[in-house]
Amino acid sequence: MSYALLGLENPLLDIQAIVKQELMDKYGFVNNGAMLATEKEQPLYQELIDNYEVAYVAGGAAQNTTRGAQYLLPPNSTVYMGCVSNDHYADQMKKAASEDGLETKYQIVDGLPTGTCAVLITGHDRFLCANLSASEKFSLEVLQKPENWSIVESAKNFYIGAFFISHDGGYASSLAVGKHAAENNKPFTMNLSAPWVALAFRDRLDAVLHYADIVFGNEDEARSYSKVAGWGTDDVKEIAAKFAQLPKANTQRPRIVVFTQGSDETVVATGDKVTAHPVDKVDASEIVDTNGAGDAFCGGFLGLYCQGVEDLSKCVNAGHYIASLCIRRTGPTYPPKAERT
Ligand code: ADP
Ligand code: MG
Ligand code: MG
Repeated sequence: MSYALLGLENPLLDIQAIVKQELMDKYGFVNNGAMLATEKEQPLYQELIDNYEVAYVAGGAAQNTTRGAQYLLPPNSTVYMGCVSNDHYADQMKKAASEDGLETKYQIVDGLPTGTCAVLITGHDRFLCANLSASEKFSLEVLQKPENWSIVESAKNFYIGAFFISHDGGYASSLAVGKHAAENNKPFTMNLSAPWVALAFRDRLDAVLHYADIVFGNEDEARSYSKVAGWGTDDVKEIAAKFAQLPKANTQRPRIVVFTQGSDETVVATGDKVTAHPVDKVDASEIVDTNGAGDAFCGGFLGLYCQGVEDLSKCVNAGHYIASLCIRRTGPTYPPKAERT
């Protein structure tokens, strides 16, 4: 089996439910917040499943993106790796991914649950509570087993989210895949993921960026990196141009840098060229929530790019299109293909 795209990162089963205010009050959650689960929030996930009508999404940023790319690719083009536990959550996640046409090759660890993210919906507000758990236990040793590494060897493009480098196994695996990509002249693409990654893991981020043929991010992540690097600019176009010029392992491909900015124009830099691509306006009344908009964008972009489309404005437009579908729905989901316009 040969895949057009292999995504790797921390898989989280999103458990979405419209909840009563009393649940928010019980845990002391304030609308539109986001947090990492502590001891106190551990019972939340089962409580949701027992008491509410829940929807499951195969989440975690890069898994969202890989599903998004599959949306535009021929059947069976994408595969995703990440670490889960041997539990019911993992079964649900595998099922949800497969319903989106995404093949999953999860690593499995014992002793702690599959990563989950509770998405608590109250009216137009969302509260996210993530329990990273097994999702942070990905290991290079397991990736290098022949049955897994053969998938890396067969994949034509790679995508990782920088969340992956915040744990040792994900970081080591990112470097190994990056090296393989560079040595074989295959595109290695990545997302800056969150402003804190550049702050907390600058050295690791730089080591992985060295392999990056495409760098995706949003305006906050671009500015955070610029600040950490001491570039002295907040201008997203200038920052994109600087990213494009950073040294890279594979000198056969100029780096492509793509920064989205919510409803503002998307900036693309490659070589010494910087272009801006406006976003089609989505009426505020049509926006359900923008969670995962950036992930969806990358999915759309890669859906075309991995088919060999070299016109970057077409790839950006595909990204805008998939993002516009995603923000009209709850969470990082895409409409069933039958509904496609
Ligand atoms: P992230 O989720 O990483 O912060 P952005 O907020 O930049 O990413 O959004 C990514 C893409 O989603 C944008 O380029 C755009 O296509 C779409 N998008 C996000 N917010 C809006 C919005 N308010 N109106 C229209 N499109 C949006
Ligand atoms: Mg944003
Ligand atoms: Mg993002």
